[in-house]
Parts: sequence; structure tokens; C-alpha cells
Amino acid sequence: MAKRILITGAAGFLGSHLCDKFIAEGYQVIGMDNLITGDKKNIEHLFQHKSFQFFHHDVTTFVHVPGKLDYILHFASPASPIDYLKIPIQTLKVGSLGTHNLLGLAKEKNARILIASTSEVYGDPQVHPQDENYYGNVNTIGPRGVYDEAKRFQESITMAYHRFHGLETRIARIFNTYGPRMRLNDGRVIPAFIGQALRGEDLTVFGDGSQTRSFCYIDDQIEGIYRLLLSDYQYPVNIGNPEEISILDFAEEIISLTATHQKIVYKELPKDDPLQRQPDISRAKEILNWEPKVKRAEGMKKTYDYFKGLSLEELEKKEH
Ligand code: NAD
Ligand code: UDP
Repeated sequence: MAKRILITGAAGFLGSHLCDKFIAEGYQVIGMDNLITGDKKNIEHLFQHKSFQFFHHDVTTFVHVPGKLDYILHFASPASPIDYLKIPIQTLKVGSLGTHNLLGLAKEKNARILIASTSEVYGDPQVHPQDENYYGNVNTIGPRGVYDEAKRFQESITMAYHRFHGLETRIARIFNTYGPRMRLNDGRVIPAFIGQALRGEDLTVFGDGSQTRSFCYIDDQIEGIYRLLLSDYQYPVNIGNPEEISILDFAEEIISLTATHQKIVYKELPKDDPLQRQPDISRAKEILNWEPKVKRAEGMKKTYDYFKGLSLEELEKKEH
């Protein structure tokens, strides 16, 4: 009999790709989302699929799913800084109350649960690159705290359910991921720069652009999450691409990729914006036999082709 999996945040960027992956692997998939930052368009190709069901539901309220469940992937949460700054309380609630509800459901159904944690648990890191033993440097009361602390709480309650109830749990610490189905106006740097290039606007680099990020293509990320779910490892695992680049160099790469001649303009660095971020993926390599395969040039080309295919109306929606 096919395995049955619940995926929360199913209409979002990562969640929709996870739905595709698990359907392709022969699972029965239940997607759940309240569409607060997601878009039904990301999963509408699945609506006629016999192995897919969609529940429109806010996971911060009691979650009920009829029938058996073998696995749960908890991916519901605003994920881009402009989203979680706009809806800070919902962000705290989905990481805390939402996670509690899903852990309760996993216990009830005797299902294995994987939660989507983040590199943000390391905050503005003082060790570089970040491995899983680093405890992080988070400003609890800063604007980003609503996301970072919700995710830190999420990890703690997940380990408590594992230790206290013997629940099978997995924790993915996800680093910046990109690819088709990101929202053009979600404010994250890749859609922001590509949108600006396509609209003929200047590229906005925050600060002096010396801050770094390491970008992982969606297909690699999904494969890492898939392997972690099926592994027997209950401690956090970093999933990301260690190839690091400064935001200024990245802006220049986008200008050359899009063959536009946009200028770069500098804007104020947002508060608590991490200065550097690069995953140490030794643990993922060892335990999951996983490492990213897609080079940034190849992944960015696919992402750019996706955004180029969007309507004028989409392009006109701005992030700020
Ligand atoms: P996204 O905004 O595209 O998707 C999140 C989805 O969750 C949306 O469809 C949204 O409507 C849904 N959602 C939010 N609150 C909900 C609630 N209370 N009930 C039901 N649904 C709700 O974001 P994403 O980039 O796909 O991120 C997905 C997950 O991965 C998040 O948990 C995020 O913290 C984590 N993550 C993502 C990245 C990344 O680079 N994309 C990095 C680290 C962690
Ligand atoms: N950034 C930028 N210009 C933009 C959007 C973002 O320079 O128009 C910077 C941002 O300050 C951060 C980096 O790009 O240093 C990545 O930002 P993003 O929001 O994508 O992710 P996060 O900060 O959560 O890693």
C-alpha cells in the first residue's frame, strides 16, 4: 500500500516542489496550506492527480487528517524577511503552536515528522562556516527574532517530543534556496534582483554588498530533504550549497546573466542582516551521502528562464 504523507506549506516554494517529489516517488500526498504567503498556482497541476488532496487550513489551529499517516513534513511558515516582518505574530505562531499541533498529530498517527528549520537559527554567526554544533547568535528582540526564535523553539519542542514521547523526528536546517516558483515580489534577493533587471530598474544592494550568502538550487535541496526524511538520524542536519558569494558580486552576476545594463544602487542594510552565511555540510555528506550537484550558473539560468516566462502583470508587482 502506498505511503501517505502530509506536507504543510504545500502551496509555497519548497512545499510545492516537495509535493511533486513525493508524488513522483509513489506516495499519497496531502497538501495543507492557508495561502498566507503561498499560491495555489504552484500546485494546481496536481489537483486532478489521484494521489493528491489539498486541505485549506491554518495549522496554528487544531489539525485533523482522516486516515493513516506515515510521514509529516512541516514546511508552513513565512520565509522571506519582508513576509515575516509584515506578519510577525503569525510567524511566531506557525513555528510554535503550528509545530506543536503537528507533533501532536504525528504522535497520534505514529508518523515520522520532519520539520523545516533554517540557517537563521545561527543568527548573525560568529563562526564560519556554520556547522550543526554552533549554537548561534540571535537577537531575540530584533525584527528578525520573530522568525529565528520561532524556528529555535520549533527545534526544541521537536527534540522534546523525540526524547519524551519517542517520536521519530528529523530536523533540516535549510540554507538559502532558490529556483522556479519563488514569488517575484517576496523580497528575497534572487527574485528581487531578477525582477529589477526584467523591469529595467537599478539593482538594490543593501549595505555595501560585502555580506555573503550561499545559494542552493531547489532540486538539490529537495533531494537532501528526501534523504534526511528516510534516514535514521534525529539531530539537525544542514542542507545547503557551500559555494559562497558576496551580494555585490552576485548583483554583478545577475547583470551579466540577464544581459541588461542596469546600475547598482546602495540602500541601507536591514537591522540584524547576517554578515556571512555558509553551511558546513560534512554531516549531510556523511549521513545522507548527499551534496549539491547544480552549479550556480546552471541553477540561475533555469530560474531566470522561469521568471522571464511570467506575465507583465506579475512583473509589475513590486516587493516594497
Ligand atoms: P513560502 O512562503 O513560499 O511557503 C510557505 C508556505 O506556508 C506558504 O504557502 C504559506 O501560505 C504557508 N503557511 C504559512 N503559515 C501557514 C499556516 N499558519 N497554516 C498553513 N499554511 C501556512 O516559503 P518557502 O521558501 O517555501 O519556505 C518553506 C519552509 O522552508 C519554511 O518553513 C521556511 O522557514 C523554510 N526555509 C526556507 C528557506 C528558503 O530558502 N526558501 C530557507 C530556510 C528555511
Ligand atoms: N538583499 C539586497 N538587495 C535586495 C534584497 C536583499 O542586497 O533587494 C540582501 C539582504 O540584505 C541579504 C541578502 O541579500 O544580505 C539575502 O537576502 P534574502 O532576503 O534573500 O535572504 P536572507 O537575508 O534571509 O538570507
